[in-house]
Amino acid sequence: MTDPSTTPGAGMTRRCFMKLMGFSAAAAAMPKYVSANASLRRPNILFIMADDHTSQAIGCYRLRLSEYARTKNIDRIAAEGALLKNCFCTNSICVPSRASILTGQYSHINGAKTLRGKLDPAVDNVAKRLQREGYETAIVGKWHLKETPAGFDYYNVLRGQGRYNNPILYELGKDFKKGGKEHQGHSTDVITDLSLDWLKNRKASDKPFCLMCHFKAVHEPFFSHDRYRSLYAETEFPEPEDLFWPESPKGKRFEGWPLEILAERYRKRGDRYAPPRLEAADDDPRSIRKAAYQKFMRDFLSTVAGIDDNVGRLLAYLDETGRTRDTVVIYTSDQGYFLGEHNMFDKRFMLEESLRMPFVIRYPREIRPGTTVSDIVLNIDFAELFLDYAGATIPKTMQGRSFRQNLQGETPDDWRDAMYYHYWSHSNPRPSHYGIRTERYKLIYYYGLVQMGRKPKECWELYDLRNDPHERINQYDNPEHRDTIATLKRRLEQLRRQYKDTEDPLRTQ
Ligand code: CA
Repeated sequence: MTDPSTTPGAGMTRRCFMKLMGFSAAAAAMPKYVSANASLRRPNILFIMADDHTSQAIGCYRLRLSEYARTKNIDRIAAEGALLKNCFCTNSICVPSRASILTGQYSHINGAKTLRGKLDPAVDNVAKRLQREGYETAIVGKWHLKETPAGFDYYNVLRGQGRYNNPILYELGKDFKKGGKEHQGHSTDVITDLSLDWLKNRKASDKPFCLMCHFKAVHEPFFSHDRYRSLYAETEFPEPEDLFWPESPKGKRFEGWPLEILAERYRKRGDRYAPPRLEAADDDPRSIRKAAYQKFMRDFLSTVAGIDDNVGRLLAYLDETGRTRDTVVIYTSDQGYFLGEHNMFDKRFMLEESLRMPFVIRYPREIRPGTTVSDIVLNIDFAELFLDYAGATIPKTMQGRSFRQNLQGETPDDWRDAMYYHYWSHSNPRPSHYGIRTERYKLIYYYGLVQMGRKPKECWELYDLRNDPHERINQYDNPEHRDTIATLKRRLEQLRRQYKDTEDPLRTQ
């Protein structure tokens, strides 16, 4: 087998070029975070992404349900590499986050603002650029971007949400609208089987690869393989403290999606989804909420266990074929998810559980085992990280930044200390909004209340994450924070200008 670490192409970054040229003087000036030798190597990239898997349900994150999560393989990636504590999506919903990951751009730039969005095959993306740099590229699993995937030497994808059991996938070379093939089994197993098949039978094995393995799991209806069904049969999961608060966050002006919606869906789905303990709930709203929460957690974490076992199969393949050292492995999810916090499920909001993406990464040549990164990293940064590893030129049209250096424990002096978020998909009662998050504060502007016919037609929320990490008290009307709010509003406008999102969002929806 040929070593995948080939010489960088003509598109190498200036930094890599300097390192290649670096003898004594340049070597002295060389950043210590990466060795000259490492810059000659171009790692394989295995990008594993789940759908709606949230950090509270991953062991290594040590959050609310971490001790219940069966995620030893995901935890292994973090233990042998780095865990990002503050990785955030820029628009917390499937289609937009996937488009931002591929393009390195905010939703208003790449055009995929809502679930109706799509990714035009003509648009530049990271896969196309890696292909041009000599990578063999593939994507297997959930695509969700409507149009034919572009930039991939191989694809075999679910076009929409796809099915959990016996999913239909669309393969390169077949008709993308009609040429689907049904595969027997649970989607997480099938997607891993197809990913491993591609790895084992690669046509261009002399090239480094970039494989995107995108699970459909753990998206609602959180449907696990039968072998995991009894995993949590006897488990009583701890409830979030604010599951029964009449209002959480205190001071919110809209309902969000409470667990009663999920309970109603369970009922409508019939026996197959019948929650064993929901029937005992009678008509008492409190017991319905309790029972729905317990079933939700059982289903969610059983489905996660299936993901983790399959992550283990991918890691084992790298070990067995001697590729572990030369492969960057990432596990992430397209956004976070509420697991009953604020009595909500689903995502969309800029609140922490939905905003935070789990992100663990391993690359033995550069990342020290057990690294924790607290810097603010965004989904628009992933493309630039990949291009950095590939030694490729990073296009000015991408709006993120490579965090390769941060992963080696060195934060660049001018690294961002605030992030900009914009959720466009107005969905009553979940209004569109944008906002800013710094290390300590979060300021959110809900402009979508007008679309709900509400008065007042807009509202603001301010959270002090240091004193209120679970965002239970909106401090916007607290006079003590007047100066902070004024500063954050100025910075928010700066970020909107920086990312070219200055038009009235109600007019450009
Ligand atoms: Ca999602």
